[in-house]
Amino acid sequence: MTRGPAGPATRLLHAGTPPLRDGSGPVNVPVVRTSTVRFGSVAAHEDLHRQRSAGERVATYGRHGLDTHRALEDAVTDLEGGHRAFLAPSGLGAISLVLLALLSPGDHALVADSVYAPVRRVDQTLLQRLGIELEYFSPAHEDLAALIRPKTRLVYLESPSSLLFEVLDLPALAAIARDRGVPLAMDNTWSGGWFHKPLSLGANISIQASTKYIAGHSDVMQGIVVVDSPALAAKLATAHEALGLSISADDAYLALRGLRTLPVRLAQHQRHATEVARWLQQQATVARVYYPALPEDAGHALWRRDFSGASGLVSFAFKDSDDRAARAFVDALRHFAIGASWGGYESLALLAPPERLRDHGYWRTQAPAGPVVRLHVGLEDPQDLIADLAQGLEHAARAVDWKNAA
Ligand SMILES: *Cc1c(COP(=O)(O)O)cnc(C)c1O
Repeated sequence: MTRGPAGPATRLLHAGTPPLRDGSGPVNVPVVRTSTVRFGSVAAHEDLHRQRSAGERVATYGRHGLDTHRALEDAVTDLEGGHRAFLAPSGLGAISLVLLALLSPGDHALVADSVYAPVRRVDQTLLQRLGIELEYFSPAHEDLAALIRPKTRLVYLESPSSLLFEVLDLPALAAIARDRGVPLAMDNTWSGGWFHKPLSLGANISIQASTKYIAGHSDVMQGIVVVDSPALAAKLATAHEALGLSISADDAYLALRGLRTLPVRLAQHQRHATEVARWLQQQATVARVYYPALPEDAGHALWRRDFSGASGLVSFAFKDSDDRAARAFVDALRHFAIGASWGGYESLALLAPPERLRDHGYWRTQAPAGPVVRLHVGLEDPQDLIADLAQGLEHAARAVDWKNAA
């Protein structure tokens, strides 16, 4: 069935819908679970093997995934405006896939210093052992052109960053990398791929932890890599096959199901997070609120230029650098569970002490003096969330009073 030209939400809703058979059929893509693929003849088997060896997106074995996987790949390729997608068993797995696909012993890569912190562990525990050098740089302050070496094979960014949501000037950074022939990969998890299109702004690879907003219900671990060219697809396909990365058809189905409501969920996360961020700005004990959609945020101008919306993550720093207030605040919350992930329907809070900010590279840039609390603002009634935060701040104030009295 062809539906004719369609806008991005329409395409997201119908990507992968199976064709009618004998005049009828299900709305949803079936979950095709299998380890073994059957072939009608030896010749058909050989033919598909040849296609796969030539890099085509066909399955000769269950590890490659079947219809459910293809439908998810197609939908996310379309969402990101790319050439081809690869599925990984987690967001971190998707990041490692990109690093291993593009970097060899002796190679050098430039990495934004505020990237998702576990990337540094991949560096320290795996890449260094393989003789691959990652160099961390502050994309807002250092000159990327001056840092690129003859052996630089990748620039890796994340925008906005994971804890303080610094927005990078992606078009400017991508232009420099392109000039020097270095591919640029970006972690696009924050935007869900809906509010930000890195490939249209010069990135060559967009990575998402689909664990977060794409799946959207805190019930799937998954990562997706979308590349912009056949040459990068060939490199990714080789590494993907060598690493034996595979996800279940059930998880591919859940991500596809999440995608259908990505635009409406993100719009609601944005509304609630904006309300919470504005409210936090008015609180006497709050030093600073980090949310790019606020006009006062340092990244606001870039965000307005390059993003069409903001997601549900809001961080704030307490005025008091003693972490007792922040700990009492998070412990007192009732609607915000304490949790490190985000992107599901529910609200979460995470305390990031200064050591953790250092892990995220913030010692080099704008480290707040005290602890930061990161909120994932969920789809609950926003007045309930604000009332919860208010009672949390009262607990925090009492904790500080005890400290001052002691
Ligand atoms: C969560 C996250 C990841 C890792 O995803 P997992 O599925 O948890 O491995 C990568 N990047 C960002 C920005 C994330 O928030």
